[in-house]
Amino acid sequence: MLLPIELDAHSAVPIYLQIVQQVRQRIASGELAEGTLLPPERTLAKSLGVNRSTVVSAYRELKRSALVEARVGRGTTVLAFPSRHGGRVEQDSSLPWRLLFRESVRQGSDPLVRDLLEMAGREDVIPFSVGLPSPDLLPLALMRSVAKALDGELGPASLLQCPTEGVPEFREELARWMHRQEIQCSAGEVLVLSGSQQGLDLAARVFLDPQDVVVVDEPTYFGALQAFRGARARIIPVPSDAEGMVTEVLESVLERHRPKFIYTLPTFKNPVGGVMSLARRRHLLELAARHQVPVLEDDPYSPLRYDGDALPSLKAMDDKGVVIYLSTFSKILFPGLRLGWIVAPEPVVRQFALVKQSVDLHSDTPGQWMMTRFLKEGLLDRHIEVVKEHYARRRDLMHQALQRTAPKGMRWERPEGGFYVWCRLPREVERSRLISAAAEAGVSFLPGWSCYVEDPGTSFIRLNFSFPREDQIEPGVSRLMEAVARSSAGSRSTVGSGVGTRPIV
Ligand code: PMP
Repeated sequence: MLLPIELDAHSAVPIYLQIVQQVRQRIASGELAEGTLLPPERTLAKSLGVNRSTVVSAYRELKRSALVEARVGRGTTVLAFPSRHGGRVEQDSSLPWRLLFRESVRQGSDPLVRDLLEMAGREDVIPFSVGLPSPDLLPLALMRSVAKALDGELGPASLLQCPTEGVPEFREELARWMHRQEIQCSAGEVLVLSGSQQGLDLAARVFLDPQDVVVVDEPTYFGALQAFRGARARIIPVPSDAEGMVTEVLESVLERHRPKFIYTLPTFKNPVGGVMSLARRRHLLELAARHQVPVLEDDPYSPLRYDGDALPSLKAMDDKGVVIYLSTFSKILFPGLRLGWIVAPEPVVRQFALVKQSVDLHSDTPGQWMMTRFLKEGLLDRHIEVVKEHYARRRDLMHQALQRTAPKGMRWERPEGGFYVWCRLPREVERSRLISAAAEAGVSFLPGWSCYVEDPGTSFIRLNFSFPREDQIEPGVSRLMEAVARSSAGSRSTVGSGVGTRPIV
């Protein structure tokens, strides 16, 4: 096809950008419809009288902006113009916004989390993709009674600003709650966060210069990968097996690189649901102390143990002061509160607080007052006891449904706690077909490959059992297993051949 582009050799805008802007405008206006094949680079370069490398740069930029896709043997085709408003095409803007964003933001901002949250609200989809507590089990009545009791106390203290480190009474209560989890700490060693995601972001801001090394045990929480990528760190993966992080491999990584910290989720890890063994915990702490490398322990799920014996957290075992402990109320109570915390040596708390100050000054104060009371009255322990029973049942329903319907070659473990079942797909399943087939079947999952530093090629999926209703689990698993069967190489189904099927994650 002919692509009418007018170039201005005297403009301050580089030639490749002029190409990007004009193609973008034509896609936005609908002149270049989804699926249109763009001219090959060499042909366009010749017709415009520019170097081929100029067109290569322009196409690369269009690809980064998700406006076109290039496939070997098929050329470069136009994708649907991104629209946030129910399919309405947005008017093109006069500024090339994406090109003005920082390189690391352009590369590192994965819309996965936003898409997952959107998914959770869709009526027509059985949601196995999110990592949220059950909406039916939120203790709304308890929270209302706490809010009512606070009514008389609400005043300047609870509605004006608070110290960046958090409301002092709340930090005291958090320290007490930590003691009950066998973690000995003072209120001064607790820093309140706006969700534990903020702890990951602050850890990246405090510790990581571009190209600094951070170690993670793979697969890991994709939100942590996003935070570390955003800091332009080098992320070195260490594999994990049934006992968690393979610390023998960690040892050689620590010898070769000098990481700024080791990020790990030892208990009911997101995404795999597994637990690091006691021996590995000891070995990890010993290595961290010997190599003088801090450990960032992310622990949102440990109170949600349904069976088996509890293991101490790394922080509870840490007699050398190497662990920064991170947790949140998002999994055990309300994610909407946006309240998390770290427990760390005081110099670390001070430095994190200084950086937090420039991000959001402090976390939400009314929420901190409500949670102070919630903890003081022992309501959190009571609530956790209630939800554990329900979640254990949902886990069993998912496990049994998988046992009944999973195809040969599919592997998973029944987790002892947490929110997730991690499934290895049969080798012949084609991932892109599965995403489309599941979308058509009205069921969602988290693609496991998003939890790796580099796409491992192997096919895992993460299924969440806490958020869907009990009566959705069995039909959801059946639908998903049918989609798996239809996505195997050799199956006759044409699923996934349509252009522009939006992946449901
Ligand atoms: N860490 C892990 C391991 C998580 O699973 C999550 C939530 N998915 C977070 C941190 C972030 O939680 P929040 O910011 O809601 O506290």
